[in-house]
Amino acid sequence: MIEIKDLHKSYKMGSNSLHVLKGINFSVEEGELVAIMGSSGSGKSTLLNILGMLDNSDSGEYILDGVPIKNLNETKAAQYRNKFLGFVFQSFNLINYKSALENVALPLYYQKVGRKERLEKSLKYLDQVGLKEWAEHLPSELSGGQKQRVAIARAMAAEPKVLLADEPTGALDSKTSYEVMDLIQKINDQGNTILIVTHEPDIADMCKRIVHLKDGVIIEDKKIKQVRAEQYV
Ligand code: ADP
Ligand code: MG
Repeated sequence: MIEIKDLHKSYKMGSNSLHVLKGINFSVEEGELVAIMGSSGSGKSTLLNILGMLDNSDSGEYILDGVPIKNLNETKAAQYRNKFLGFVFQSFNLINYKSALENVALPLYYQKVGRKERLEKSLKYLDQVGLKEWAEHLPSELSGGQKQRVAIARAMAAEPKVLLADEPTGALDSKTSYEVMDLIQKINDQGNTILIVTHEPDIADMCKRIVHLKDGVIIEDKKIKQVRAEQYV
């Protein structure tokens, strides 16, 4: 599903340059649940943003579902991004003046899905995250965990090939974090490919594989026996 080879990324700041990714190689098969682990500043978000086509690498290869992602113009990149990728962020990034349902429907609107199908699909995905009864509520009326579940429903509604989540539990208390991880595990059980960035070891243990980033390189990449979040919720 994902293949990256010798990926490099630097940030230029005035006359200085910060080399953040120093030759990253890895691949992800369909159906994996991968944690990208590392301390703050280790380049996790930089890597995820490149994988999410929100940013470009300086050099290296990136092949997403057989498509080489390089030198795509912005229109083409946006097309692939909408078609292939779903995003979940630490800060939820919901639109405050839109209901939970309207938030979930948004990517479908951009995909030009008709109104009726948009509504049906959005309700289906809200139901899947256990929030059908909250469809008409605004984000301000939802708890942090509920907001993140709406964000996950929104990401899944577009039926992406890969779900990318940057610190999805970073703003949540531990019990709520486990609820969100339980949902993520269940979505992965259905065969969806998911990459999660986290600096929390107990969240990484709930994935199936941990890729450990340090000083711009992968220092460890191991399959693990997944800890089920269900037992903590
Ligand atoms: P992490 O997500 O692991 O905390 P990041 O990928 O956000 O790490 O950042 C890696 C390093 O790159 C940090 O030192 C950070 O300050 C720097 N950095 C991130 N984004 C930018 C940017 N847009 N411009 C300059 N430096 C950046
Ligand atoms: Mg980060």
